[in-house]
Amino acid sequence: MLNLETDIANLNRVGASTAKKLKKLGTATVRDLLFYFPFRYDDFSKVTPIARLATGQSANVVGQIDLLQNKRSPRRRINITEALISDGTESLRVIWFNQPFIARILKAGDWVSLAGKVEDDYGGPTMTSPVYEKVTSPNPSFVRRGTSGFYQGGNNAIHTQGLVPNYHLTANLTHKQVRFLIKQVISLANKITDWLPWEVKQNVKLISLGEAIKKIHFPKTDSEIRKARERLAFDELFLIQLQSQLVKKSLALSQGLKIEFHEPETKKFVGSLPFKLTNAQRKAAWEILKDMARGRPMSRLLEGDVGSGKTLVAVSAMLNVALNQKQAVLMVPTEILARQHYDTVCRLLADFGAKIGLVTRSQREISKSQIPNPKQILNSNDQKTKLNSINIMAEADIVIGTHALIQADVKFNNLALAIIDEQHRFGVEQRQRLIEKSGGKLTPHFLSMTATPIPRSLALALYGDLDLSIINEMPQDRKKIITQVVPEKSRAAAYEFIRQQIRQGRQVFVICPLVDSADKSGAKSVEAEYEKLAKIVFPDLAIGKLHGRLKAGEKEKIMREFLDGKIKILVSTSVVEVGVDAPNASVMMIEGADRFGLAQTHQFRGRVGRSRYQSYCFLFTDSQAADTLKRLEALTKNHDGLALAKLDLKFRGPGEVYGTEQKGFLELKIASLFDYALMKQAREQAIRLLEIDPGLNRWPALKARLGEREKKAHLE
Ligand code: ADP
Ligand code: MG
Repeated sequence: MLNLETDIANLNRVGASTAKKLKKLGTATVRDLLFYFPFRYDDFSKVTPIARLATGQSANVVGQIDLLQNKRSPRRRINITEALISDGTESLRVIWFNQPFIARILKAGDWVSLAGKVEDDYGGPTMTSPVYEKVTSPNPSFVRRGTSGFYQGGNNAIHTQGLVPNYHLTANLTHKQVRFLIKQVISLANKITDWLPWEVKQNVKLISLGEAIKKIHFPKTDSEIRKARERLAFDELFLIQLQSQLVKKSLALSQGLKIEFHEPETKKFVGSLPFKLTNAQRKAAWEILKDMARGRPMSRLLEGDVGSGKTLVAVSAMLNVALNQKQAVLMVPTEILARQHYDTVCRLLADFGAKIGLVTRSQREISKSQIPNPKQILNSNDQKTKLNSINIMAEADIVIGTHALIQADVKFNNLALAIIDEQHRFGVEQRQRLIEKSGGKLTPHFLSMTATPIPRSLALALYGDLDLSIINEMPQDRKKIITQVVPEKSRAAAYEFIRQQIRQGRQVFVICPLVDSADKSGAKSVEAEYEKLAKIVFPDLAIGKLHGRLKAGEKEKIMREFLDGKIKILVSTSVVEVGVDAPNASVMMIEGADRFGLAQTHQFRGRVGRSRYQSYCFLFTDSQAADTLKRLEALTKNHDGLALAKLDLKFRGPGEVYGTEQKGFLELKIASLFDYALMKQAREQAIRLLEIDPGLNRWPALKARLGEREKKAHLE
C-alpha cells in the first residue's frame, strides 16, 4: 500500500535510474512528489480538427494512425519515425527523431492524442516530436470519416489534453514520466495534514491543502489553477511572516554589540576614494553605522540596482567594526566574486592595518594590509600567507568568503557584523548559519545586500523583521547602456564594433547559455564560441573562457587576466552574472538571450556601464517568435530592474522569474514577489495568531510545520 512516506522507488514503473534522477530533484517520497509543483500549463483544453490547424499554433489533435514506419536518414545518421494521422477532417504528418521505440508502442489503426506545435514543412500540416499518448477508440458513431466530424476527446489522456502541467526538470526526466507518477499518487493528497488553522482559511477564503495539491497538478479550468495557487502561495508567505515576526520579537529582546562610529578614519577612507560617494551611498552608510552603534542587533537589507556602489557601503561598515577590534564577515555566492571583493578590500583598506582574510573552497589567504602601494597587493601574492580557515576565522578582522565559511567546522572569535552580498542567492538557513558562527554570546549585526529591486512597502510585507536602506541613485558619471537586439545578419557588424571598442582600450564579455554543446538544444556554448572567436573572428586578440567546470585556480587566473586588461574578450557562462566588477568592460554580448530571464539579463548587463565609458549590450537570439522578440525588446527600452522583473513575470510566470537562482526570495515556489495583497493578508494573519497565542500551542499542526522548516534549515 502506498502512503505519503513511500519511497518513490516503490512506485509503478520507477527503476533504479529514474529513482536516482527523481531524488536529484529532491523528490524522495510520495509526499515530495505531491509537493513538486508544475510551473506552467499547456492549454490543450480543446481538440482541434486537423483541417483547422494553423501553422505555429500549439494544439491537441486526436486521430487514428493510418501509417507508421521507422526510417534511417543515412546522411544525418538519425532515426526517423514517420506517421500519418487522420481525424476525419484531414491528415497530419508526424515525425519523431531518434525514438525508434515509438514504432513498438504505436501501430496503424491505433487512436492517439497528440500535443505539439504545428509546422508547415511539406505543404501540409506537420508536427515534429509531439507528445503522444494512446487513447481508447472513440464511439464509432461519433466518427464520421470523410466529413467534418471529428473525435472530441473525453478519454483519460493526461499528457496531451486539458490543462497539461509542465514541471521544472533536469537529468533526462520527461514531463510525461513525472505526470504519470503524480497521477498514480494524487489521491493521497487527501492524507496530507492541513496545518493552516481553520480560522485563517476562513478569513482569507482559502481551499484546503489536499484540494489545492490535486488542483495544482491536474486542474480542469483556469479558475481551479488560480484557487490552488492562491492557497499554496499563501502557505509560503504565511510561514515566512510567522518566522519573520518571531525573529523580530527575539531580536527586540536580545543584546547586540555596540560598534562605535570612528569618524576620522571613516572620513579618511571616504576621502581616499577616487570619486565622491553619492548621497544615497552616504545615507545608507550612515543608517548602518548609526544602527550598529546602538545596543540592539542590526538586521538590515541594503538594496541598490546593479552598479549603484553597494560594496563601498559595506566596506565602510566593516572598517568600523575592525576599528572596534571586532570581526566582520562578507559572504558572497561565487569564488570569483569572493576573490574580487577580497582584492578590493585589501586595496581600499591598505592604510588601516586591518587583517583581511579570504576563505573559499580552494583559496585561503590572509593579508595584513599595511602596504602603501595598492598595486603591490594586486600583483603579488607574497604578502599573503596561505593559512587554514581556522586561523583565518580566528585572526582576521575582516573575512571574505563563500559558502565554504559556513561549511567549515570553524567559528569566528568575536563576530560583530555579518554581511551577505547578493542575498537572493542564499537561503534563509544559510544566513542563519553564518550568524551562528559568531563565537560570542551576543547576536552579531546583520546586513544583506541585493540588487533585486523590491519596493519599500513590499520589502516590509516580505521581511517584517528587516530594516531597509535603499541606494536609489547611480554614480554621476554613468551613461545609460545602449541595448540592442541584433539580428543574425548584423553579427559581422557587431564583431567589427567590438574590434573598435577594443582598439579604444575597452573589453568585452560574451555570455553563452551552455558550457559545451553536448546537449542538443542548439544553444550556443562557451567552448564553441571561444573556439570560433579565438581562431576565426579575432585570432589576433587575447580571448579567455570562463565557466563553472574550470578549477578554481584557473577561474581565478582568467578573471585576474581580464581585470588586468590582458584578456580582451571573456567568453563566459552565467558565472559572471552577479557582482563582477570590471569597470573597463564596455560591451556585453549575450548569445541565446531568449534563454535568460529579463531580470537575469539585466544583471548581465550590469557587468558593463560601471565607469564613465559609454557601454553597450547586444542581445542575440535564434528565435523568431514574436513574443520572444518582444520580451527582448523590453530590455532595450527599460533600464529599471523592477520594471523588468514585473515584465518577466508577465511573460514567463513566477516560477521562472524568481526560480531556483533566487533562493533568497525565501524559497518561494508558488508565490511571486508581486502578490502584494496576499502578502499583506499573510502578515495580518500571522500577527493576529501570535497575539492570540505567542507560543502557537493552540495550533499543533502549524507549530509542527514551522518546526520542520527550522529543523530543515539547521540540517542542510
Ligand atoms: P554593486 O552595487 O552592483 O555591488 P559595486 O559596489 O560593485 O556595485 O560598484 C560598481 C562600480 O562603481 C565599482 O567599480 C565602484 O568602484 C564604482 N563606484 C562605487 N561608488 C561610486 C561613486 N560614488 N562614484 C563613481 N564610481 C563609484
Ligand atoms: Mg555587488
